[in-house]
Amino acid sequence: MSFSVDMLRGGAGVVDHQLSRRALINEVKRGRISKDSVCDAHPELIRAARNIGEPSKTLCPICEEVNVALVTYVFGHGLPKNGKCVTDRRDIMKLQRTSHEYAAYVVEACPQCRWHHLLRVLPIVGRGRRRAAQEG
Ligand SMILES: [Zn+2]
Repeated sequence: MSFSVDMLRGGAGVVDHQLSRRALINEVKRGRISKDSVCDAHPELIRAARNIGEPSKTLCPICEEVNVALVTYVFGHGLPKNGKCVTDRRDIMKLQRTSHEYAAYVVEACPQCRWHHLLRVLPIVGRGRRRAAQEG
């Protein structure tokens, strides 16, 4: 089973990812949801968080032992169906030079307890061809 966007908690249909994250954390703190059911990140996501994740200053809300790492997946034209894990800003800039639109999913993941949640979805609008058209 490989990693896919469907496995990003707080994904489909959620408008305010921060709000859904907070609500979920509250439920865990109140004992209404077990930690096990929220600390179930896919091994590939945890591997990415450990090896290439961007360190954050946010303490993991569940285990409160380590800071979560941020992992960005980009989806769109010509990219793998399961998204491309982006580690370098230059990769994003490359996409901005194309004429396609992409979506970057920023996920926080805890390498310690495997908590994970989608933080935000950012559109990446390729301006390559569009700008050329304006100039012409
Ligand atoms: Zn944790």
